[in-house]
Parts: sequence; C-alpha cells; structure tokens
Amino acid sequence: MTETLSSILIVGAGQAAAVAAATLRDQGFEGKITLIGDETHAPYERPPLSKDVLAATPENEPAIDVKPIDFYSIADIDLRLGLRVESIDPVAGTAELSDNSQVMFDQCLLTTGGTARFIEAFPEDAPGVFYLRTLDDAHALRTALKYSKHLAVIGGGFLGLEVASTAHKMGVAVSVIEATDRVLSRVAPPTFSDWLQQRIVHTGLSLHLGNAPASITPPTDIKASWDIRLPDEHHIVADTVMVSVGLSANSALARQGGLDIDPNNGGILVNEQCQTSQANVYAAGDCTSQIRGNAAQASRLESWQNANEQARIAATHMLGKDPAPAAYPWFWTDQFGCNIQMLGLPEPDLNYVIRGELDPKAETPKFIMLGLRNDVPRYAIAVNAGGDLRALRTLFEKGVCINPNEFTDTSVTARAFAKSATAAHNAGQPN
Ligand SMILES: Cc1cc2nc3c(=O)[nH]c(=O)nc-3n(C[C@H](O)[C@H](O)[C@H](O)COP(=O)(O)OP(=O)(O)OC[C@H]3O[C@@H](n4cnc5c(N)ncnc54)[C@H](O)[C@@H]3O)c2cc1C
Repeated sequence: MTETLSSILIVGAGQAAAVAAATLRDQGFEGKITLIGDETHAPYERPPLSKDVLAATPENEPAIDVKPIDFYSIADIDLRLGLRVESIDPVAGTAELSDNSQVMFDQCLLTTGGTARFIEAFPEDAPGVFYLRTLDDAHALRTALKYSKHLAVIGGGFLGLEVASTAHKMGVAVSVIEATDRVLSRVAPPTFSDWLQQRIVHTGLSLHLGNAPASITPPTDIKASWDIRLPDEHHIVADTVMVSVGLSANSALARQGGLDIDPNNGGILVNEQCQTSQANVYAAGDCTSQIRGNAAQASRLESWQNANEQARIAATHMLGKDPAPAAYPWFWTDQFGCNIQMLGLPEPDLNYVIRGELDPKAETPKFIMLGLRNDVPRYAIAVNAGGDLRALRTLFEKGVCINPNEFTDTSVTARAFAKSATAAHNAGQPN
C-alpha cells in the first residue's frame, strides 16, 4: 500500500462508488474514505428502476441498495448525501462542496455517472414527460403510469424498450418511436433487431421505426395529452411520454479540475488502471472513456458490470496493488418475456451463426446468436440462454477457433461443445 496515502475522496454515490469503497476496505485500506453523493439515497442499483421497481407498488418495492445500509458505518466510511462536489483541485488535493465546506484528499475517485440526454421538444418539467435515471425519476414515472392510458416511448434502445415492456405489463398501451430504421441499432446485428421488433409487435405494442416526430403538440388547458405526428402520417396521442435517447457522461467536474476528456464522447479519459490524466485522480463507471483490448479508440460503456469492474480496478490500483484484469464485457436486459445477455462488445461485419429457434412468437424463446471473426467468437447475444452463454465464456477469453456447424447443433449441450472446442484449442488442433 502507498505509505503516505491517508485519505480518499469518492465523488458520486452510485454503483461504482459503493463497490470502490468496499474494495478499499477489503484490500486493507485503513485511512479515511469520504463518499459524497448529490442524491439523497445511499448507493442503489439502477437496473431494477426500469423493471421491478417500475412495476412494483410503494408497499412491495424490492430492496435495491448496492450495500446494506449499515455497511457504511460498520466500514467507517463517511457517506455524505444530498451534497454536490462543485470543484476539485488535484494538485492541492482539495474539493469544494455545495455546502461551502472543503474536503482534503490524497487520492480522488470520480464516479459521477451520466445524465439522460434531453430533447428540447420534451422539456423535463413539462406535464406528462419523463426521463429515467434516478430512483426519484422511477417513482415519478411509476405514479404516472398507474393513471396512464397511452405511453409514447421516444427511443428504441435498451432503456426505452425495458420501460415499454414494463408499462405494457402494467396494462398501458405503448407506442415506441425510434428515429433509426431498427431497434438496438448500436448494439445488435440487423437479424437480432428484426427478431426483437417482431416480438414487440407480437406482444401488442405499436412500433414506429425510421420516424423522428415531425410535429409535437404539448398538452393544453383543455387537452391533457401530447400529439405526436410522424413523417409516415401516424398520429400518436399519449398522456405520458418517456424519452430515452442516450446518456451524456457527467464530466464537468473532471473538466473543471483540468483532467483530459475524450473529445469524441465527452467521457473522462482513463487508462487501463482507471487513472485519469492526473495521477492522483481516478474515474470509474458511466463517466469514463477507456481503450479496451486492441481497440484503436477509447469508448464509453454504460453497464452495471463495467461500473463494478472499473471500481474494483481503480480502488486496487489506488492502493499501489496490481488489480486482476477486467472481466470480459457482459450486459443484460429484461424485456418482452426475455432475459437477454450480451457477451463481448459489438463489432461491425461479424459472421453470425444461430443456435436455437428464432421464433418471436414462442412463449419463452431460447437462442444464442454468436458473432464470429475468422471462426473465433467475438460477440454473443443470448435470449433466455444465460447458462449456455456462461459455458461459452471461455471460448471468448481464450480466443478459441470453433466449428460453426458444431455450435448450431443443439443435440450437443453448449457446455459439452465448449469443452471439446477448448480441448482441441489447448491441444493445438484445428476444430
Ligand atoms: C433505468 C436503468 C436501467 C439500467 N439497466 C441496466 C441493465 O439492465 N443492465 C446493465 O448492465 N446496466 C443497466 N443500467 C446501467 C447501470 O445501472 C449503470 O451503468 C451504473 O449504474 C453506472 O454506475 P456509476 O456508478 O457509473 O453511475 P451512477 O450509478 O449513475 O452513480 C453516479 C452518481 O454520482 C452522482 N453525482 C454526479 N456528479 C456529482 C457531483 N459533482 N457530486 C456528487 N454527486 C455527483 C449522481 O447523481 C449519481 O448518483 C441501467 C441504468 C438505468 C438508469
């Protein structure tokens, strides 16, 4: 451990912050840990906000704390909520807070997350308009959906589709409006988007692709709904609008502190150890931009696993130790009766092979779409097949060349297939 390290400041009290604080204590750091968050809740998991929390009632809401609430006092972590860090000075090792107090630090970890991107036509304080990032946002949307007849979801990405799916289950009519010509266009190949689109329509939602609203008329004193006209002549009348068109990294504090920001995506630039351009300041989670693997360019990853992994790596490295490398990227989403998991990162021009049936009307569809480059798995999307995907993980990690025909043969279990492909790889045989 670094001899002189006696105080660590963590800015932002979300997923990455809680995991980093726990890692610091697990790794034996006995100095002062101050964790400052501008929300009034102790660190909580965001994934349930668009799923179980949205569907729950206030009485049966699931517990979503990242750590049990007494963890912070037991671990002697100074958790201060409802406070913003307004500025940092990495050289002086000081941070100014919104209550005009100051915190001194030897090292600082920025885990400031991101902010939902706004569309001017749907101001966040307009009646019936919702953006979803925080627990308070989820509570407000849930209350609205309880009385809503028609929800318009603007944006066919993960978050928008999860909310659409949950709202539909709650009995609300849902229209999804996506400006590009397919859903999940940034993360899924066209075949998968096409399958999911068919499932969405089969479930009973209305889906409008390639359509940015042509005209939007807000509610008036005599009409309580939004009128959204699409270029294809469709006319949607919705009492509730949920906008989900992406996330901007919260990097203003880093910029003010003189840290390097990625000009391409606005994230805080970090190296493999999650260190920023200032050696005593680290960053982890949704606010970062990092070069991964052999990628030529840094990129942002907005995922639960990335927040946890970067927090672990940053905290370990802050203590002068060598962190184990990040786990292979993994993501999940729950929507339309499907648990969808992704392994790896999407890449253009992969050759996709499919194991299982692409039946969008099946009660519980089950398949894996495996993206190969030169027969080596690079990216996979598994629908209701998380166990099988776990069995394939080693192929990704070791860069095992596979036989695509053997992969698609469902008479052999995924586990047995992965075992034999790995054995052939280890023995240096072509598969
Ligand atoms: C509704 C929803 C559903 C999701 N579903 C999934 C899913 O199914 N699967 C998945 O892999 N990922 C999912 N995610 C993404 C995942 O939750 C995030 O990637 C993760 O929460 C990122 O953690 P973080 O610590 O980087 O940021 P956050 O958890 O957002 O925490 C950042 C905190 O810092 C605070 N903050 C910012 N600036 C300051 C400041 N200057 N001073 C003090 N505090 C500050 C913010 O208010 C916030 O509380 C979902 C996200 C949302 C919103």
